[in-house]
Amino acid sequence: MPKAAAAPAEALQRGFLGVFAYSRRALELVWTTNKPLSVALAALTLIAGVLPAGIAYLGALIVDAVVHAAEVHRRTGVTGLHDVLKYVTLEAALVAGTSAAQRGISLAQSLLRAQLGQRVNVMILDKALTLELTQFEDSEFYDKLTRARREASSRPLSLVMRTFGLLQNAISLLSFGGLLIRFSPWAVALLVLAGLPAFLAEAKFSGEAFRMFRWRAPESRMQIYLESVLAREDHAKEVKLFQLGGRLLDRYREIFTRLYREDRDLTLRRDAWGLGLGLVGTGALYGGYAWIAVETVAGAMTLGQMTMYFMLFRQGQTAVSAALSAVSGMYEDNLYLSNLFEYLEQPVGHSGGSLRAGPAPGDGVRFEHVDFVYPGAAAPALADIDLHVRPGESLALVGQNGSGKTTLIKLLTRLYRPTSGRILLDGLDLAEWDETTLRQRIGVIFQDFARYQMLVGENIGAGDVRAFDDEARWRDAAAQGLADEFVEALPAGYRTQLGKWFKDGRELSGGQWQKIALARAFMRSDADILVLDEPTAAIDAGAEAEIFEHFRELTRNRIAIVISHRFSTVRMTDQILVLEEGRIVERGSHESLMAADGRYAKLFTLQARGYR
Ligand code: ADP
Repeated sequence: MPKAAAAPAEALQRGFLGVFAYSRRALELVWTTNKPLSVALAALTLIAGVLPAGIAYLGALIVDAVVHAAEVHRRTGVTGLHDVLKYVTLEAALVAGTSAAQRGISLAQSLLRAQLGQRVNVMILDKALTLELTQFEDSEFYDKLTRARREASSRPLSLVMRTFGLLQNAISLLSFGGLLIRFSPWAVALLVLAGLPAFLAEAKFSGEAFRMFRWRAPESRMQIYLESVLAREDHAKEVKLFQLGGRLLDRYREIFTRLYREDRDLTLRRDAWGLGLGLVGTGALYGGYAWIAVETVAGAMTLGQMTMYFMLFRQGQTAVSAALSAVSGMYEDNLYLSNLFEYLEQPVGHSGGSLRAGPAPGDGVRFEHVDFVYPGAAAPALADIDLHVRPGESLALVGQNGSGKTTLIKLLTRLYRPTSGRILLDGLDLAEWDETTLRQRIGVIFQDFARYQMLVGENIGAGDVRAFDDEARWRDAAAQGLADEFVEALPAGYRTQLGKWFKDGRELSGGQWQKIALARAFMRSDADILVLDEPTAAIDAGAEAEIFEHFRELTRNRIAIVISHRFSTVRMTDQILVLEEGRIVERGSHESLMAADGRYAKLFTLQARGYR
């Protein structure tokens, strides 16, 4: 356990500093989510706060009226119930009012909870859209995201409710104190002091619970991941065939057992302290009772007053401990909210530039001495890359797996920034380009392109958000990507649902998916740079060459960049770069590279032999 939690004074100080840190922002969040509900909540809280003191006061009036009526009855034989009935009716009304207020509070709360949960989730996802790819791949950052998503959507309301609860109990206490002080100021002091030890313990343990929750992010992430591997259709095939299930489930259980042990220890300690300190409170309460009883016997107060003080003591005690546990709960909520706000305030790295055109239109793409090292990696994934492609030209990237081809494309699309060197489009550094303009100019299909569980047509339309549901455009693009034939044969044509998560979802073969991906690329009719990163690997070599030829025709005035292991495709391009360990080791046209008889020529001959 962390040493900081050891000193109660320090825990107390941190508790008080932490308690209100995010209350204002949580309140703002609630207020801006639904103003009328927030006002109703505040008003009902106030009402629920003052009514208990009124009830206690009426209780005293009832007892005294009964005692008085009994005495009158004994002396005169007359039964005068008027006062008693009046007070009883009044008290009944107040009790009914209290329960109505409580109902109203819980109603407003559940409505607000739903709205607020949705709002915070949207905030989290909105933020996710602005993040850089490197941030998603950074495990520490990913932990932040997981933590924020897991708890934070329920916490703002919880914090606000606890703030209101604190207020409500404080109002009750003030009104109780106002009545009790007539008996003795010491009684008020006794009431407050009895609750303090319990609060100290709470503040300490909620801090500990939170730190535990933070440390655990990597384990929880592993658990979530294992759940997805075990329970999702895209992994089910392998998990079954390799019989990985038992093994993975054991790992899942192991993590739980370890976490459970820590949880149990903390809960045990928390409850042991709670019990001990609760006894102190009970002792104080009964000390107060005895004191009041003694005073009543001595004739210092009426029976009605005695009943009232008893009630004030008991309810006051409850209010003190409720207020104090609200404070420690607020501390906990604040700690959790700090996660949320930490995530929301995460700097978004580089913001793009604002320029929509370069100084040299028609210059195309240039890489100048570009190096790139993945965060945390020892060796560069790309080193000293120089290249130039003009509109109307095509470029092929060739090299073994891991030689840096995909990384080069990710740099070109500004998913990553070069570690050093520059990438220019029309003579302007990529970093200076306006985000939207840049995205519209480049169309990319990665080898691990997304397979959305949506309509076939939407899977094609995804290539151009503006035409996401434009069926005419889907058809054009599908025809260009050679996907029209099989799509039209599907039961609902372009409106066929894909994926197994949904009713009647169809699955496509690997080759069919790649044709969808190609069609998606053709949706980007405005893009003047088109990149295909091995999207045709699952299509046979003959068809790939045909597709590429077709692709070339459709991209005659544009820049086409292709990554392929098929030399039948590669040989059709104007310029070929051979990459090895992140460096360009050969470059030129197919003919010149064959004539040079280097690595390219060797690989080409090897593959050509395989086809013979
Ligand atoms: P290719 O596309 O030629 O198969 P990549 O560009 O995907 O190769 O990978 C180049 C090198 O960069 C490899 O050594 C790979 O391990 C590493 N790499 C790729 N993606 C990442 C990543 N997201 N984080 C860290 N290293 C990566």
